[in-house]
Amino acid sequence: MSERQVTHERNPTPTSETRISNPLDLRSLQELIHEKALLYPDKSALRFRDHVITYHKLNNSANQFARLLADYGIRKGTIVGLAVDRSPEMLYCMLAIVKAGATYLPLDPEYPQARIEFMLQDAAAAYLITSEKYSGRFQTAAKEILMEDLLRQAPQYDVSPPDAAITMQDVVYVLYTSGSTGQPKGVQITQLGLVNFLIGMLKEPGLDQHDKVLALTTISFDISGLELYLPLLVGAEVVLTDVQTSRDTRHLMEIVRQQGITVMQATPATWRMMLESAWDDRLPLKALIGGEALSKKLAERLLEKCDSLWNMYGPTETTVWATLKKINIDDEIITVGRPIENMFAYILDNQLRRVPDGTVGEIFIGGVGVGVGYLNRPALNEERFMPDPFSPLPGARMYKTGDLGRIVNGGEIQCLGRMDHQVKIRGYRIELGEVEHALGKQTGIKDVVVLPKDERLIAYVVQENGTLPNFSAWQQALKTSLPEYMVPSNFVLLPRFPLSPNGKVDRNALEAMGQEIEKANRVYTAPRTEQEKLIAKIWEDYLYVEKVGIKDDFFELGGTSIVAMQIMARIEKETGKRLPLASLFTANTVEKLATEMELDDQSISWDLLVPVKPTGTKPPIFIVNGLDMNVLLFNNIARNMEPDQPVYGFQPRGLNGVDEPFETLEDMAAEYIAALLERDFPDGYALAGYSYGGVVAYEMSRQLQAMGKKVKMLAMFDTYAYNKGHFETGVPKYIRKIKRQFPKFLFITQSLIRHPKETLDYQQAFFVRKYNEIAVYIGLQRPPESDRAEDKINEKYEAAYRKYHMQTSDACAIDLFRVDTRLYYLDDPLYLGWKPYALKGINVHDVKGDHKTFLMPPNDKDFAILLQQLVDERMKA
Ligand code: AMP
Repeated sequence: MSERQVTHERNPTPTSETRISNPLDLRSLQELIHEKALLYPDKSALRFRDHVITYHKLNNSANQFARLLADYGIRKGTIVGLAVDRSPEMLYCMLAIVKAGATYLPLDPEYPQARIEFMLQDAAAAYLITSEKYSGRFQTAAKEILMEDLLRQAPQYDVSPPDAAITMQDVVYVLYTSGSTGQPKGVQITQLGLVNFLIGMLKEPGLDQHDKVLALTTISFDISGLELYLPLLVGAEVVLTDVQTSRDTRHLMEIVRQQGITVMQATPATWRMMLESAWDDRLPLKALIGGEALSKKLAERLLEKCDSLWNMYGPTETTVWATLKKINIDDEIITVGRPIENMFAYILDNQLRRVPDGTVGEIFIGGVGVGVGYLNRPALNEERFMPDPFSPLPGARMYKTGDLGRIVNGGEIQCLGRMDHQVKIRGYRIELGEVEHALGKQTGIKDVVVLPKDERLIAYVVQENGTLPNFSAWQQALKTSLPEYMVPSNFVLLPRFPLSPNGKVDRNALEAMGQEIEKANRVYTAPRTEQEKLIAKIWEDYLYVEKVGIKDDFFELGGTSIVAMQIMARIEKETGKRLPLASLFTANTVEKLATEMELDDQSISWDLLVPVKPTGTKPPIFIVNGLDMNVLLFNNIARNMEPDQPVYGFQPRGLNGVDEPFETLEDMAAEYIAALLERDFPDGYALAGYSYGGVVAYEMSRQLQAMGKKVKMLAMFDTYAYNKGHFETGVPKYIRKIKRQFPKFLFITQSLIRHPKETLDYQQAFFVRKYNEIAVYIGLQRPPESDRAEDKINEKYEAAYRKYHMQTSDACAIDLFRVDTRLYYLDDPLYLGWKPYALKGINVHDVKGDHKTFLMPPNDKDFAILLQQLVDERMKA
């Protein structure tokens, strides 16, 4: 079936984002150019410095080159590397390779040598056309052909087109995409894709024989195809720049003026530089922009200076540009418009279902421009190129772009940036593009890129000339439209952004440069009272921050649960005032903490139930503290769960040093339940406990069940359910103890091999503890005296645990989070002792870290994500 039939038969999918197809002119690129050469033989096809090459000359030379190349052995299917300087010969060669029915592999000689060699090898190029200047430079199996030889030999050949058997399915070029990570990969583009794209461009943005198109882009970037071929399809002129000129925007500006350029295509970065280059007047220029997000501000500036502005979008994999949009001055949202003819764009969810208009999903592109796939990358091809279920055509494929987008304005696509620019900061999912977009609108910011760093966002800013940075104003403005966690905390000012060879912002290079400007959202407010001065000083000592102002947020300054404990202990030492760690959740600034301290002791809240993160519409999860009594630890979990997930913690009675701690585990559970029921939480609880707290949560679940309340989730954060042994006496106890020595020894030996440092540290601490216990027991040492409330509670806790008779329960199945790094021996490493008790079963989840570190960065993130999934599932049931 011919493609002409294909497009006639296509029943255009009636979606808002699809354009109705027109029949294609299915002749090949070379035929179309040949036709124009016959029509405009003496017209200038190509201008390079002072040289003018007519259509006749260009076409004839390309034909002669093609015939000559055939004599070298280049034919249909041969891959030919092309590494020559920008020149008319470069274009002859590109056309000649295509005319010979072969495939060209564009190689910018300015690219690093190793990269060029990689591409030649990866593509298994049979030939490399280069010039004397580069002869022998590249280590390659490809046979070298010198441009100078071609120029010498070609005139002897016939000027008529060679008759290579061309089909529209032939691969016309293999282009290596930069591949932000890992090795670059070669995209194969067909004649059909290329011609369809060019014909689409002729309709919109449109071009005619009077146009002059500036060709400034490296041939290693697919968009150069538009600059070099499009003019040749209508009798227009290509004005080719050399490499120096293409890098110098002032020079480019001169050429635009002198040559009367009417169409120019560039990335936003290049356009921005052009605007800097003494461009005051309005030019009769059709400006094509693409390759990166176009900001509203840049659009406005360009619209002031150009006749029209077109935003073009598309990955290399779907042939240059797949969608486009003419930008108007009053466009509220900058979109990439609609697909070009015979191309489709879909916004899909992760199940590959279309999402409703306005909903964000991934952009998929279908249609005749979808490339054949990457060379020699079957696995990647399967992942990125897939059957197009929305196309009525058999065998149609679509490409997964990795870009986020949504449909707006009744059918236009708003591109929301790369999915791999989606980051998680403290558990919140953030589209960096959204933050960039919001910041880009602020006064004084010309250009901005936002990158994550150490759980914070850093904004790299190029300022408008002559403006002063105003970090706090920018942040304040952002806070009106974005949640707080999306507001960058630091700024780096740069004169310009580093660019990759194809003119896009080089994000990797950006990370490495620039001096961070002092934390911008810390508008320093000096402490006023003695109390504030003291607290600020203590925070400075423990947080390693030079100047802590009274409005600075403890967590934003990098405060962790361990630091919190140190700070509270120091405050107690200096002032005699004991404050609950949990107060930092609400009194999170020096100012608020000082106010809290001014309360009389009775009014300080030592509530058992601590609102770690009380906001959100999901059912809350309640987590019982472990022996460390540190509810602040649950902050890591709360921050890394979804923003909509409320988290509460329990902390024991007696922390204030006044109240008596619980005597039994049953009492503890009962009081926690009472605190829970005092508040108006809906029935159907999600309970969890860290270590010791798991047993308390277990007891709570039993008591709640007895009260007729439903527990929907019961999670153990690495809790061991060993209990029986506490009630053993005499011989059985000793037999059991002796029996476990051998496997214990084996375990410790293995652990020493796997985690030598951690195991030694653990064993050393264990021996010191045991030694002290024995020394006290035999009277060598006096029991340690401590007036720390925590030590007193600990003692009671251990006694309560020993007294606790664990019984079976069918209140709820147990979700057992088990750490993957175990530093001490356990009788039951599989179910951590829960098998006999959990009548409804146990779901085991392995998590990264040891018993202490699994709730701390960096492990806390994955842990929280898993926990969130489970809470969602269990609470739905
Ligand atoms: P490349 O394959 O080098 O052409 O890069 C394609 C990627 O560039 C797309 O997947 C987008 O992420 C980005 N891109 C291209 N054009 C635009 C545009 N007009 N607006 C936003 N992003 C774009």
